[in-house]
Amino acid sequence: MNNLRNCAECGRLFVFVNRNICPACIEKEEEMYERVRKYLKENPGVPIQEVSEKTGVPEEKIIRFLREGRLEATSVAGGLTCESCGRPIKMGFLCDSCREQVAREMKEIAGSSKLAASKEKERRGRGMFIADRIRSEQERK
Ligand SMILES: [Zn+2]
Ligand SMILES: [Zn+2]
Repeated sequence: MNNLRNCAECGRLFVFVNRNICPACIEKEEEMYERVRKYLKENPGVPIQEVSEKTGVPEEKIIRFLREGRLEATSVAGGLTCESCGRPIKMGFLCDSCREQVAREMKEIAGSSKLAASKEKERRGRGMFIADRIRSEQERK
């Protein structure tokens, strides 16, 4: 079966391979990447805004390249920052400590649902115990 998808960029239908955008948009993106890379090579340390203006590549695309690690975060002024606390990072979305925090919270959520499950079991166990008692009391009558 054809794995058809709508391109996240232009909306055109295409056969999905490994990206959610169509080959034409991938090509366009590669071309944008090259333009940004070249510009930064000649003008290191400029703000993303300026890179965007000079290359015509949207800022969010440039940030994506940075987050994906395709461009050095240090090559632009201000670099890349943690989405949570705003600390400078080299790539990705979060700094190390925020990433740890998220991992810890995920673990806690998993743990609390396990706890809830064991409480539920306990509750049901007690319920059965009460039912047994009622039954035995009825039998006594
Ligand atoms: Zn497309
Ligand atoms: Zn952070």
